[in-house]
Amino acid sequence: MPIVTRTTLRQVDRCDQRVDRLVNVTDRLVRAQRALADHGIDALLVTPGADLRYLTGYHALPLERLTCLVVPVTGEATLVVPELERPAAEAAGVEVPIVGWRETEDPFALVSSVVGAAERIAVDDHMWASRVFALRQAIAAEQVLGGPLVAALRMRKEPAEVDALREAGAAIDRVHRRMGEWLRAGRTEREVGADIARAIIDEGHETVDFVIVASGPNGASPHHEVSDHVIEPGDPVVVDIGGTTAAGYCSDSTRTYVVGGEPDPEFLRLYAVLEAAQQAQREHARPGVTAESVDQIGRKIIADAGYGEAFVHRTGHGIGQETHEEPYIVEGNTLTLDAGMAFSIEPGIYLPGRFGARIEDIAICTLDGLDVVNRTPHELVRLP
Ligand code: ZN
Ligand code: ZN
Ligand code: ZN
Repeated sequence: MPIVTRTTLRQVDRCDQRVDRLVNVTDRLVRAQRALADHGIDALLVTPGADLRYLTGYHALPLERLTCLVVPVTGEATLVVPELERPAAEAAGVEVPIVGWRETEDPFALVSSVVGAAERIAVDDHMWASRVFALRQAIAAEQVLGGPLVAALRMRKEPAEVDALREAGAAIDRVHRRMGEWLRAGRTEREVGADIARAIIDEGHETVDFVIVASGPNGASPHHEVSDHVIEPGDPVVVDIGGTTAAGYCSDSTRTYVVGGEPDPEFLRLYAVLEAAQQAQREHARPGVTAESVDQIGRKIIADAGYGEAFVHRTGHGIGQETHEEPYIVEGNTLTLDAGMAFSIEPGIYLPGRFGARIEDIAICTLDGLDVVNRTPHELVRLP
């Protein structure tokens, strides 16, 4: 039973420091309750999304009928669901008591009665505005954002989550290793992208989350997807791909290729700078350094080479059940990296109208340093 007592608080403190201990969903709820206590919040309300899945294991669809997890600061959490979705919640292995509401009942009044007396409630960041407003009518309490509380938990991966991210990384590496099967001059980005998407599934993902095949000038647009641009001999091609595995964890890796001939000599200079920057960032990142210092060390190398203006985005993002989550590796984020944190290291250099390059690895902070999940070569890959 997830009740915050002195004993459980001490147990939680220990488990935060030891990533070798398996933590179950109940422990996540206990950690959430400790965060609520620390912030003087009476209850956390979570509707379908990654936070609900993290806290209960329930991957509920975000539909019009209200599903809402109520995590009180003390006592037992309760999942409020439409009665017709109770079997789905039970099948997902939800361990907290489930309270169903029937079609003509008011689910917000039900949530209010489950919450009881409260002065401050936290709502999840992705809760629909219509629900936030309805809860404001139903519960006379101050509303605050719950996202930061849950993000702080999700940021420190448990051993099983680290393993799942390693598996996802190995799966996307297998796709990059096969790139020569599909990527060549004379084909369009769209044709190559369709082949890559099939391989993302074949190599061990359940869904394809994104496929970026950015050739020639399109490489200068960091979030270009695919187009009907025909890849030309000597074009640099930025390939950034990712999916979600059956375990529910995401992959995300970028490699830059050159196909069918010699690229512009400036591209080779630019790529050497980028490779040095990304390597320096991998060597620097580890528990105890700040997130922003990882960004700074690569940005300085790129700026010193004259490409400072061309590195137009942050260095990276956390990754887990979502492709982009905390911690963000960006100037101004003074968060100290800690064992269990997983994030991308993906500097890029983009010259509008000409070409671009990016190198991206997912890395995990462990007690021994940095474990880089993606193992394909970082050098420019030349394909015939
Ligand atoms: Zn991105
Ligand atoms: Zn990416
Ligand atoms: Zn990324």
